[in-house]
Amino acid sequence: MTGPAIDVKNISYSYKEKKAVDDISFSVAPGEILGFLGPNGAGKSTTIKMLTGQMPPQSGSIDILGQDITRERTAVQGEIGVCFEEKNLYLNMSARENLAFFADLFGLKGVDITELLRRVDLADRADDRPKDFSKGMRQRLMIARTLINTPKVLFLDEPTDGLDPASALAIRDLIKTEAARGAAVLLTTHDMVEADQLSDRVAFINEGRMVTLDTPDNLKLSHGKRSVRVRIKDNGKVREEVVELDESGAGDRLKTAGGAQGLMTIHTEEATLETIFIELTGRGLHT
Ligand code: ADP
Repeated sequence: MTGPAIDVKNISYSYKEKKAVDDISFSVAPGEILGFLGPNGAGKSTTIKMLTGQMPPQSGSIDILGQDITRERTAVQGEIGVCFEEKNLYLNMSARENLAFFADLFGLKGVDITELLRRVDLADRADDRPKDFSKGMRQRLMIARTLINTPKVLFLDEPTDGLDPASALAIRDLIKTEAARGAAVLLTTHDMVEADQLSDRVAFINEGRMVTLDTPDNLKLSHGKRSVRVRIKDNGKVREEVVELDESGAGDRLKTAGGAQGLMTIHTEEATLETIFIELTGRGLHT
């Protein structure tokens, strides 16, 4: 298809008095990973619930794969994959039976469940029950479940939250592979390192509004200082020089520092998404 996989125009949602999502618009191209970054209560889950057809937007429109999610909900839901915080695994069925059950639910024939389990590193636990799995293993099984229909659009809500590093890494690799296959991915997280590593673009969400939407590189270039920290061992002592790259004479200073005897390390220091978020919203991601 041409055109965006997700196209959102001016959506809003209020729970009684509380405006949870306030006039948000954006689009995601096939193969693109968009990171939705914001603190708890920012409106990320409410947005995903609207995008996946769990509740209609109170205003605005949402097209997924060129179809209106409210009018074409069933057709759209067959082509998307949704991994939400709520766990919906059957703890007393084996991993394989869980996936077979969901394949049936989708009316899918010939799904290679062994291959899916292999992709999430659970092939050797196929006949064990999620009841006996770690949190990371359950989440990997959830991801396998999400991929069962080879979705063209993936919605992942905090997919690595609270997981051990190995499981988190495995899930991040899978997300990249899915995007490389052409899936559009919308990923919510309050982990700015994850957002930075995975996302082609990030959207900052705060108090229901989209504060900014850009590539991590553009955000870092347009916010905060660019600097280089040089560590030099001088007469047995370590000294540090910080060269601000945007100041005049920076090139010469860097040459001198970098050419010094006893040079130990040179590190670039750039704004992180967390510091940019604070700069733009006045609050951190974990408050
Ligand atoms: P996030 O996913 O970014 O943590 P949410 O979309 O869950 O944010 O919540 C956005 C706002 O809407 C918060 O202020 C939250 O308290 C409120 N909210 C979320 N769900 C409900 C609900 N079912 N009833 C009332 N208020 C809600």
